[in-house]
This record gives sequence, structure tokens and C-alpha cells, in this order.
Amino acid sequence: MLSVDEAQQCIRSAAMALEPELVPLENAMGLLLAEDVVSDIDMPPFDKALVDGFAVRSQDLVVGARELEVIAEIYAGQAPWPASEGITSGQSVRIMTGAPMPPGADAVVMQERTDHTTSGAGRPQRVSVNDPRFKPGQNIMLRATEMSMGQTVLRAGAQLRPGEIGVLAAVGRDSVQVTTRPRVAIASTGNELVEASARPGPGQIRNSNGPLLAALVTRAGGAPHYLGIARDTHDELLGIVRTGLEDDVLLLSGGVSAGELDLVPGVLRQLGVREVFHKVNLKPGKPLWFGVLEHVSSDAANRAKPNQPGSRRTLVFGLPGNPVSVVVCFEVFVRPAIRRLLGFADPGPRIVSAVLREDRSSKSDRPTYWPARLEQIGAESHVRLVAWKGSPDLRAMTDANCFAIIPSGDQQLRQGDRIQVLSTEY
Ligand code: AMP
Ligand code: MG
Repeated sequence: MLSVDEAQQCIRSAAMALEPELVPLENAMGLLLAEDVVSDIDMPPFDKALVDGFAVRSQDLVVGARELEVIAEIYAGQAPWPASEGITSGQSVRIMTGAPMPPGADAVVMQERTDHTTSGAGRPQRVSVNDPRFKPGQNIMLRATEMSMGQTVLRAGAQLRPGEIGVLAAVGRDSVQVTTRPRVAIASTGNELVEASARPGPGQIRNSNGPLLAALVTRAGGAPHYLGIARDTHDELLGIVRTGLEDDVLLLSGGVSAGELDLVPGVLRQLGVREVFHKVNLKPGKPLWFGVLEHVSSDAANRAKPNQPGSRRTLVFGLPGNPVSVVVCFEVFVRPAIRRLLGFADPGPRIVSAVLREDRSSKSDRPTYWPARLEQIGAESHVRLVAWKGSPDLRAMTDANCFAIIPSGDQQLRQGDRIQVLSTEY
């Protein structure tokens, strides 16, 4: 039986970043940029006012308070003034945030630092400035301060967060080359399963793993493709697996243990999926099955790296049926695989060290991933195990935000010991 490290190594060698694709900006969140992005404009495109107030000439104000004539009003969206119509000594212009500065003016006094008189409706005629901390250049952002035309503003490899999405829009990109989001097919297997909308009959349970896996895939950055429930019959499994093998990853839950009706490995082999390993030394999650299907084709749908001609592949995980085993196997093996397909240089899993907050003795032939709560106290991470009744007990996971890793063997852990923790929040 493989160790966790050995199994992770097998998966790493099978999971390579997908070819980049062009996607609309609204679908690019979280993906890695696959091109350098150059600005097509100066930002701001003109010297702009940063507050509502009055555009003035500094020379008029360096001596302190002063009354000025107001010759015009400028709103955001108005075209910049022709240079020939700049303001001259003793004049000012009422200006709104985001509007282009009038030629001749080199500062804005915010309206809260002024008194202005209006004759009836419309713009004020005169303004009296009282701005003791006035500085030439204040409240203006000069053209191209943020970025200039031709400047590289984002580099290939950057992860697109909301800020990067906004910058892409600012430089005129409504679509962008990113690493492809892997499509991840999800199917639950088991005669006992009904969907969440149904009330389970005698001997039946609800299919937690379908929605659970879809949520895990979404959090990992993949695109879930839910296929439904397959009964434990050869034909139903064959049909659902065949569909799932068209995606980049196929996740099956249940049917990989040693029971009479654990038909999944046989069906996968029949459909040409090469078994890489079956069973890993961890708890829960031991029955995990992993294999690879190589698609031999040269069609346009080929999304594999060009250095692997015609070798689009599907990574197939046969996950155990119990929901907590599903979560553990996903976090330890599947999420790093999805992140590798996405092109991340640090695909995880994320293991941190934390101080145990209780005594705990444990005797197991396998390292155990125990649902736990990680808490930051000052500069130190602390971990507390939650009450947990074993791999079917998914409810306990709602109290947890990580897994404490308890090594195999006869362990007498003491409060204050440092242990490793599998973090799930990234
Ligand atoms: P199996 O590996 O198919 O023998 O399943 C192991 C255990 O997990 C059984 O008790 C199943 O009822 C349970 N199980 C299997 N699939 C699911 C599922 N989709 N949702 C919740 N529990 C499941
Ligand atoms: Mg089953």
C-alpha cells in the first residue's frame, strides 16, 4: 500500500497544466493569467480632480485666503477644455470629482474649505477660499500617474483577483488568456442513494457526496459537472463513467472497497483507464483508487500541453463512499491535482504546524486525519480536535476548519505538542 507521499507523487506526475484559453472577463476570476497585459491608455487619461470643489491657480492662493471669480463649471464626463481657454489670475472653475482640470489651474480646493455665493439658481459667481493647509498641486491626479499607455500592467502567471479583473477592464480587456478551468465530472454510486429532494425510504440515505464534491471542486477552482447517481450495476456504472471520462477529471464516490457490489475499479479498467494505485495508507480514505485515461486524438478539443501531442487525459479518482473520507481524499489528493491543472506553482496541500490544545492518545496503523479547529492566538496557531464519530460523521465537519494529522503508531500526544495540520481554507 502506498504512503500519502508516494500517492501524491503519482498524482503530481500525471497532472499537468491545461492549455490556456481566451475567456470573457466575467469568467476569469481566480484563474492564472497566461499573457502579459499592456495598457492601451494613460490612466488617468487627463489631469483629473479628486474632490468636488474649485480649480484654482496656486499663485493666487499661496498668500492664504482669497476671493476668486467663478467662470465655469466642469462635470465628470465632460471633454477636456481647449488649452486656449485656460483660467487666468483671479479666476476659478467649479469642478466635480473625476472631471478634467481646466488649463491654467494647478490645484483644487475642496468645497468644504470654501464659501460660495450663488446669484439665484445655477453656478456660483464668486468663491471665497479658506484652506489654511493649501498646497500647490493638491487634490489632482496627474495624467498617467496610475499607468501609462504601453506599460505592462499585469504579467503572465498572476492570479486574477477582483483588483486584477478591474485593471483588465480599465485597459480595455473584455476577454483574457488564462489557464483553463478544469472540468470535473462528479458521480455518486450506490443502490442506497436518493437525492436531497427525496425523503429516504427503508434502507436508503441521501446523496451528500454529490453536492459536497461539487462545492469542493468549486472551492478548488474547478468547474463541477454533476452527473447524478449510478446504481451498483455494471451497465449504469458504465454509462455514467463513459460520460465522465470526457472531462479533465472524473470523481466517483463509493464502490471502491472490497464489497460484492464495489464494481467501480473493474468498470474503469474496462473503459481503458490505467490504474495507477488502489489504496493509500491513511485514515479515513484508505480505499482511494486513482487512474489515468489517455485520449488518443488530434482533434481541436485537445487541451493538453503541446509537448504531449495528442495526449489529452482524464484523471480519475475513485473516492471512498463515506463523506468524511471524501473530504480527506479531496483535500489531500484531488485539490492539489486540480490546482496543478490550473497552473498553480504551489498546488498544495497546505500543511501548517500548530500547537495541540489537549492531551490525546491514539493507536492506529495509519496516519489519521482528524477533523479539528485551527485558531490563531497571538503569533501562534493552535489546534483543537472536534468530537467525531468516524468517516460517516460529516456533521462533525461543520465544527471543523482543518484536519489534525495524528501519526500512525502508539501516540501519546500532550497539550502543547506541535503537530501538523491540513489546512482547508485557501
Ligand atoms: P461504499 O464505499 O460504496 O461501500 O460506501 C461506503 C459508505 O458510504 C456506505 O455506508 C455508503 O452508504 C456511504 N455512501 C456512499 N455514497 C454516499 C453518498 N453519495 N453520500 C453519502 N454517503 C454515501
Ligand atoms: Mg456503495
